[in-house]
Amino acid sequence: MEIAAGIHLIPGLVGQRPLQLFLLRGEQQTVLLDTGSAPDPEKIILPYLAQIGLRPSDVTLVINTHADLDHCGGNAAFKRLSPRTLLSCGEADRALIEDPQVMWARRYNRYASAHGVAYDEADRRWIMEMLGDPQPVDLTWTAGEVLRLGPDWTVEILATPGHSAGHLALFDARRRILLCGDAVHGAVYLDTAGRPALCPTYVDVDAYLGTIRFLRSLQADLLCGCHWPIKRGRAEVEAFLDETEQFVRTAERVVIGAMADHPEGMTLAELIAEAGPRLGEWPRAVDQELMYALAGHLDRLVVHGQARVDATAQPVRYRLVAQER
Ligand SMILES: [Zn+2]
Repeated sequence: MEIAAGIHLIPGLVGQRPLQLFLLRGEQQTVLLDTGSAPDPEKIILPYLAQIGLRPSDVTLVINTHADLDHCGGNAAFKRLSPRTLLSCGEADRALIEDPQVMWARRYNRYASAHGVAYDEADRRWIMEMLGDPQPVDLTWTAGEVLRLGPDWTVEILATPGHSAGHLALFDARRRILLCGDAVHGAVYLDTAGRPALCPTYVDVDAYLGTIRFLRSLQADLLCGCHWPIKRGRAEVEAFLDETEQFVRTAERVVIGAMADHPEGMTLAELIAEAGPRLGEWPRAVDQELMYALAGHLDRLVVHGQARVDATAQPVRYRLVAQER
């Protein structure tokens, strides 16, 4: 489906949730934003390209918005289909994107040793399968670069950290079109039937808030994320950014409230159990995915001097500074 002149949406799935990959077809460059999970290049990208008369080798450049299985897991498979296509990503996400073992250790299994919060073996196997084979990228972006796709079409590479450190977005300033990957999550990810399926999964709260503010400043007229319906018009874009920020503010309040009820301190797992039902209507089994955001909020309270962490405890415990002594 062509959502704006030259910009195609390739529909896919990650579990029960929609996945939207974008293809920018210019006269000089054809850019694919994200490669999906490991099976997706064969399963959805190749057929879509064929449908619009393109071969994988017509894609000159792949840009991974960020280090997650549904955005870069298809890199090795795409490179097999088209060895000359250049793969690229944000420099800060490069190590994770190039090596599934690094991605596992630093992202998906990041809270296991200190917090005892981790995916089970079946989930681990699925994650590793979706991440595909190790695949070096050909170049990285630090953001601020401008990419020419055609004689009268350029897009800007933007740094939009928060969900990952090296998260990128693309901005077509002339048409005010923002392709933002998973930079902003609203209050929930819905499944294909419109039911709440996943909580927001930002990891760095202050970076995420900074990204929301930055994206507001762009005054986009079209906001295209990878898992949310496309937002058309300034009002819809603003409403989605408001919803995104509101969730963060609510989560911060819920975290502080829960900790105030526990002067003895709380582990991440205890906080997840208390905060989950207050933050969203997704299935309760999904609450574990709050590990990313809630660990982010705990870290933020520590950095801002509002909480202290007892790192000698196993798992580590947090308590509000105001309740000490
Ligand atoms: Zn995603």
